[in-house]
Amino acid sequence: MDLSLTAEDLKFRDEMRAWINASLTDEMKDGARLTTGPFSEHAVGMQWFRTLASKGWSAPTWPPEHGGPGWSPLQLYIFTSECAAAGTPVPLVMGVQMVGPVLMHFGTPQQQEHYLPRILSGEDVWCQGYSEPGSGSDLASLKTRAVRDGDDYIINGSKIWTTFAQHANRMFCLVRTSTEGKSQEGISFILIDDFDAPGITVNPIITMAGDHEVNQVFFEDVRVPAANLVGKENDGWTVAKYLLEFERGGNSYSPGLHAALANLKAIAAAERNGDGRRLIDDEGFRNRIAAAECDTLALEIVEKQALCELAEGRTPGAASSMMKVRGSEILQLASELTAEAVAYHAWPDQKAARTPGSNIAAVGPEHALTALPRHLNHRASTIYAGSNEIQRNIIAKLVLGL
Ligand SMILES: Cc1cc2nc3c(=O)[nH]c(=O)nc-3n(C[C@H](O)[C@H](O)[C@H](O)COP(=O)(O)OP(=O)(O)OC[C@H]3O[C@@H](n4cnc5c(N)ncnc54)[C@H](O)[C@@H]3O)c2cc1C
Repeated sequence: MDLSLTAEDLKFRDEMRAWINASLTDEMKDGARLTTGPFSEHAVGMQWFRTLASKGWSAPTWPPEHGGPGWSPLQLYIFTSECAAAGTPVPLVMGVQMVGPVLMHFGTPQQQEHYLPRILSGEDVWCQGYSEPGSGSDLASLKTRAVRDGDDYIINGSKIWTTFAQHANRMFCLVRTSTEGKSQEGISFILIDDFDAPGITVNPIITMAGDHEVNQVFFEDVRVPAANLVGKENDGWTVAKYLLEFERGGNSYSPGLHAALANLKAIAAAERNGDGRRLIDDEGFRNRIAAAECDTLALEIVEKQALCELAEGRTPGAASSMMKVRGSEILQLASELTAEAVAYHAWPDQKAARTPGSNIAAVGPEHALTALPRHLNHRASTIYAGSNEIQRNIIAKLVLGL
């Protein structure tokens, strides 16, 4: 694996940089700057997604036969890094990153033909219906029931922590189709096509940062065609596990971390420590930034290796767990240092001022506006996409043979 930049890669990087800078509107930049969670405010995220789609770049990890740009792993990494450095909005990626690859692998030709183009264009917005109250880490214990009735299934139960369900028009969902045998053997993977169908209720859960990012979704006698099964009935666990590797491994943390650390360094250069020196000149604080930067560089190498695996048709396996653990931990460290750097200006609750399009002035410096909500939001990064304790269990089993 040679990851050094060739003249061709540098040309690619310059082209990407120029196109991104020319395509980003002020509204998009503002939305990205005010993003406090994993995804930007939905309308702004989708504006950027459609801009990418107009260029054929909305699914950068997909193979060309399904509408991807056919970039090499390194080109993909360059593109992601340029987006992070320029501050592009982050659209919801459940379609591109999760259900898309699953449909390519397990979907029927009809399902691929119907759903994949709609994911690429942004016409469909997918949410993920895996977790339930009482079934998160122990996902196989899920209870949402799908009972066959003629050509349909009738679904009853509830999903929780469903990110951006309030914006989605479709959900990919794990349901229980049998209570016989091992719990993993009675699960099916199904696509819920009409999220406005009778019997579906989406209730918001407001996070401690004050944002509406997650929801609880209820199903009461919801009819879904049996043709919407992906894979065989009761074989959904195989599909679910395949998807989880993409959820944990398909997303590089290091480009975002490099951008977060660059932002932190700019803030530390503007802020003063207790004895009036620039915070960046404070040896203790500077060392902590440097440690985070070294960890990010180490992670970058592992992520690039994983991209090569994906490009060769292999899933990253236990490496995706390792990247998830390190990426989320460094993310928390970077946001903790940023909140610390802005000191008491982190404390005012400025939800109104940090809403995209708002004309309310920030209390304190602009750069302090998102510091605490980001820090609070990132506490969840070691829980979602499979908690870090569960990732460590996977590493212990698959890598260490324990
Ligand atoms: C912000 C956010 C967004 C999310 N978005 C989605 C979404 O869009 N779709 C979706 O389906 N889900 C989503 N989730 C749910 C997420 O996947 C679960 O929260 C996660 O899997 C943990 O499950 P749980 O919350 O039930 O906690 P539990 O499983 O009850 O875990 C509680 C604690 O016990 C630890 N623990 C549990 N089992 C073990 C074990 N065997 N060994 C060691 N430690 C263990 C965990 O690590 C954790 O610290 C989201 C969660 C959050 C916080």
